[in-house]
Amino acid sequence: MSASSRRDPLAFIADEVEELKAQHLYRPLRVMSDAQGPVTVVDGREVISLSSNDYLGLTHHPRLRDAALAAVAEYGVGSGAVRTIAGTMTEHEALEAELAAFKGVEAVLTFQSGFTANTGVIPTITGEADLIVSDALNHASIIDGMRLSKAPRKIFPHRDVAALRAILRDATTQGRPDGSGPYRLILVVTDGVFSMDGDIAPLPEIVEAAEEVGAAVYVDDAHASGVLGRNGRGSVDHFGLHGRVDIQVGTLSKAVGVLGGYVAGSQALRDILVQRARPFLFSTSHPPADAAACREAIRVMDDEPWRIERLWASTRRFKAELARLGFDTGRSETPITPIIVGESELANRFSGRLFEEGVFATSVIFPTVALDQARLRTIVTAALSDEHLDRALDAFARVGRELRIISA
Ligand code: PMP
Repeated sequence: MSASSRRDPLAFIADEVEELKAQHLYRPLRVMSDAQGPVTVVDGREVISLSSNDYLGLTHHPRLRDAALAAVAEYGVGSGAVRTIAGTMTEHEALEAELAAFKGVEAVLTFQSGFTANTGVIPTITGEADLIVSDALNHASIIDGMRLSKAPRKIFPHRDVAALRAILRDATTQGRPDGSGPYRLILVVTDGVFSMDGDIAPLPEIVEAAEEVGAAVYVDDAHASGVLGRNGRGSVDHFGLHGRVDIQVGTLSKAVGVLGGYVAGSQALRDILVQRARPFLFSTSHPPADAAACREAIRVMDDEPWRIERLWASTRRFKAELARLGFDTGRSETPITPIIVGESELANRFSGRLFEEGVFATSVIFPTVALDQARLRTIVTAALSDEHLDRALDAFARVGRELRIISA
């Protein structure tokens, strides 16, 4: 058969792409040709960026850059192997010890990303004899981690501690569904800060509910690290829950400004993850320069507390102004500020018009959020000046009125 007469077995994929475009659910990739920062160049246009997770402005911090360059000079650019074979370098081990001290826990293990941390940890520590209880709006990587686990799971409505308590009560009184006795482990999993709405998990109440039945608590602090707690130590520190949350996952890719994920907990947890967590065992470790830059980031977070103060001051001002203009910013309590418009077509148009006005605020559409909950998701980072904020708010007011999202 000639190549030209061959039927393309993947033809349905192009149809799917066309279908997404027709439904306004297709996301074009915007390309940055400058460093991440308060002002950057996207698709050739200079824009004020409200779209990154670079909360503290560390992606381009000179101290992190210098630390990475020094590590490249000393160790080269790649680690060359998975951690358990020949890919564990002094930079990895030092980063983990420093993160453990920062978080106030016994031990930390790093992963290549927050995503692989969740998909690595959850199936490693849970199995058929266990139960996972998860908030309905937990991150996709937690959902995938649960899918990879043999443990049954139950979902509680978002932040609904009464519903969580009911699930925990049933689970402890009834035990395993096959009648073989009590669960070995009940693991309650929640995001610390929810990534699309910016609301905070009711962690003290969750911890209390878990303690009542002897369940363990697992918090994904991707959006709380660098944002909540003393100098950004996260939601456990924010709520004064040290020693009462068994597992904390964090990312090195957002406020820390680099790339990676980590798990903070006991030494035994670290030990078993080294032996069994599949992304750790089967995927190459971080380049040493990434680990060196992360180490410097932790020092900068403690040396420059003005960054987190600035993050929160700008956030308060931005939220207050958006509310005054009449935008729906949902239930956010953190620097993640959604501007909810409903239809994905309108969210895309809103984002597109803001872009033309020099403001980069990406739309977030299904399946990242529910179909009727399309939004712009913004974060005003510590690196943005008051003048940037004023210019961004002017554009929001102008375009919001033009598209009748707010009244004139
Ligand atoms: N957990 C949550 C709650 C997140 O928002 C994200 C990032 N979108 C991740 C995990 C994954 O982190 P990373 O980008 O480091 O893979």
